[in-house]
Amino acid sequence: MAGASSVRLYNGDVQILDGTKVRAEILAGLKPRIANLKRPPGLAVVLVGHNPASEIYVRGKIKACGELGIFSEKLTPPESITTEELLDVIDELNHRPDIDGILVQMPLPKQVDSRRVLESIAPDKDCDGFHPVNVGHLVAGRRAPRACTPAGIMEMLKYYQIPLAGRRAVVVGRSDIVGKPMALMLLQENATVTICHSRTVDIEEECRRADILVAAIGRPGFVTRDFIAPGAIVIDVGQNRIEDRALAERFGKAAEFDKKGSALVGDVNPIDAMHCAGAYTPVPGGVGPLTIAMLMSNTVQLAEKHQAVNE
Ligand code: NAP
Repeated sequence: MAGASSVRLYNGDVQILDGTKVRAEILAGLKPRIANLKRPPGLAVVLVGHNPASEIYVRGKIKACGELGIFSEKLTPPESITTEELLDVIDELNHRPDIDGILVQMPLPKQVDSRRVLESIAPDKDCDGFHPVNVGHLVAGRRAPRACTPAGIMEMLKYYQIPLAGRRAVVVGRSDIVGKPMALMLLQENATVTICHSRTVDIEEECRRADILVAAIGRPGFVTRDFIAPGAIVIDVGQNRIEDRALAERFGKAAEFDKKGSALVGDVNPIDAMHCAGAYTPVPGGVGPLTIAMLMSNTVQLAEKHQAVNE
């Protein structure tokens, strides 16, 4: 295992990869496509119960729809809903011609079978790209809705003209919504991809081989300078809220903590990234803004498909 003494720092300037700029570019590209449609794209958002974090996410999604001219409908079944009742809600949405995308905000209450619900969404209305049919399309390299966060990261890499073919990419995390689809998307662009997870042996060494390192772990500041090859492209997907001032200070976030009583930290130690990476997505302002933009993009893509079919 490498100690701090073996760490080499990067002597060049670190390029900050700005997710807000990339989001603006993605949304600007959607506007003329929406204007070309015969009717506005339609997104149904199903929010069960009153989870405060879910309510904030859903508000952001509905707001983005409003700004772009996408029709949105929020459905708010009670916390006590059963799996069968929720399946009926989805079935009705699957049959509605004005709805192109259906999003069920996670997590669902314990009594609901989340997998059955997600798999009941018609694959051609699956704007989150989570349905096994669409995951299969991703594996096969076919055009279909793709998981929004990794798809947004691919847009970011394209925007900043970061070459991928033949380069070594390491993805830390193997979740169905980020790590696995991320690895598949990088592979499709001809990167040589390694996936690391909680059972990986000598994870620092694996990561230090990366030209492009993606951290999607859910542990604040897990990726330190021991993980980063000098000049590597470091993509930080993590969104961890820290409520310990000493920890926030360690990540250079004391001012944010003092203002808000907590601080948002990614899976990468931001101070180490600034010393070692060649390019880096900060938290906040890096990957975060891209997810909703790609949800909008998937919804528009589905609306185009539906309207072409129904012509
Ligand atoms: P998740 O489902 O909890 O998966 C975490 C992954 O990290 C798992 O594969 C796990 O490995 C791996 N892991 C955990 N501890 C590890 C360790 N000590 N060493 C190596 N690997 C370890 O999380 P997720 O949904 O992918 O989310 C990851 C992070 O991204 C979270 O902070 C989340 O908030 C954030 N996120 C951000 C956005 C955005 O829009 N910016 C979107 C989605 C998620 P095992 O499989 O072996 O358990």
